[in-house]
Amino acid sequence: MPQKTLPFTLAQIEQIEKSCPTPFHLYDEKGIRANARRLKAAFAWNPGFKEYFAVKACPNPFLMKILKEEGFGMDCSSLPELLLSQEIGVTGEGIMFTSNDTPANEFVKAQALGAVINLDDLSHLPFLEACAGLPELVCFRYNPGPLKGGNAIIGNPEQAKYGFTREQLFEGYRVLKQKGVKRFGLHTMVASNELNPQYFIDTAEILFDLAVELSREVGITFEFVNIGGGIGIPYRPEQAAVDLECVGAGVRAAYESRLLAKGHPALKLYMECGRMVTGPFGFLVARVRHIKKTYKTYAGLDACMANLMRPALYGAYHHISVPAKAGQPCSTVYDVTGSLCENNDKFAIDRPLPELAPGDLVVIHDAGAHGHAMGFQYNGKLRSAELLLREDGSVVQIRRAETPADYFATLDFGALASFRA
Ligand SMILES: *Cc1c(COP(=O)(O)O)cnc(C)c1O
Repeated sequence: MPQKTLPFTLAQIEQIEKSCPTPFHLYDEKGIRANARRLKAAFAWNPGFKEYFAVKACPNPFLMKILKEEGFGMDCSSLPELLLSQEIGVTGEGIMFTSNDTPANEFVKAQALGAVINLDDLSHLPFLEACAGLPELVCFRYNPGPLKGGNAIIGNPEQAKYGFTREQLFEGYRVLKQKGVKRFGLHTMVASNELNPQYFIDTAEILFDLAVELSREVGITFEFVNIGGGIGIPYRPEQAAVDLECVGAGVRAAYESRLLAKGHPALKLYMECGRMVTGPFGFLVARVRHIKKTYKTYAGLDACMANLMRPALYGAYHHISVPAKAGQPCSTVYDVTGSLCENNDKFAIDRPLPELAPGDLVVIHDAGAHGHAMGFQYNGKLRSAELLLREDGSVVQIRRAETPADYFATLDFGALASFRA
């Protein structure tokens, strides 16, 4: 079976622990950059190609700055994500604002930053016009409904809350044209964590066909088509990464045969991947605190689901390495747990691992997307630090660990003291 590897050594981790105790998230800059370049290379045939990093996957401005340097834009869906983008100097059409159930102040901010605004619903058009005015470039999010099968994380498109129906798109672009809007984009996002390259090619085909039809019927031309994100990552050792070159070549063939050959002028291809951009390059590093043997054998870590909740939330598999015992047989079956008072606080269930002892270092793989980002403070659990392993081998802290003071920051103990119960 293929092995999952680590971009750092046990000695490097022990060195880091001198200044930053476990648990912490550690990101690999070299891996992030190489992967970003591969994605761009796969779509280099499209002169306007741009990947907008889905900030929600890993909203750390240090990582965002690295991605900015690699030429990525930022896909934002909330005011704080817009502010993070602004903080790293990504504004204007470097931002794609793809939100849903959007409050007025977020449209106002996105508009003020000059972001590309991607509307989730026809009713948002008059809402946006009233609160921020119509921008010169507008994009609509398409929900293909029964035309496209979904997958486990995002669900069936017909059941998904996102996007316009096909009929609504025709109406929406007509309204935009009447109102004098001159620049148009078309977007969809129909899957997440999809490993089949054909899925993305099929999605591009649907959008290219639709762009041609819309442009004929409404009398507009599209400046870009955004095929969304959703490229999966091989969480399990036996899974293979998506062949980006195959996706790039397949989308190119569709672009030529279904768009250019049908008379639509050249347009820019956009993507907005999150998971595949940082996911495989982030690791949750923890130590075993206790070994407990009751009806099952438990390895309790110093990390918990507040640091990585995907296993608890989706039953997701995250590979676990024990660097000091890499050569040893996986002879013992563990539930690997955290300390939260919820029985689903488990990183792995029935996982064969080398025999563990208190103090052993464990590394949980593929925690770089929706890991720290989904962190929460329930049960008084605090979010860990985030560290970056730089290309030169040095390590910098890119977010400190929370302290009890952070947990209490929204409370006013002065008011409590004078409060009469
Ligand atoms: C989450 C999200 C993405 C990124 O999805 P990944 O599966 O992380 O690639 C892109 N676009 C929108 C609108 C999203 O909500």
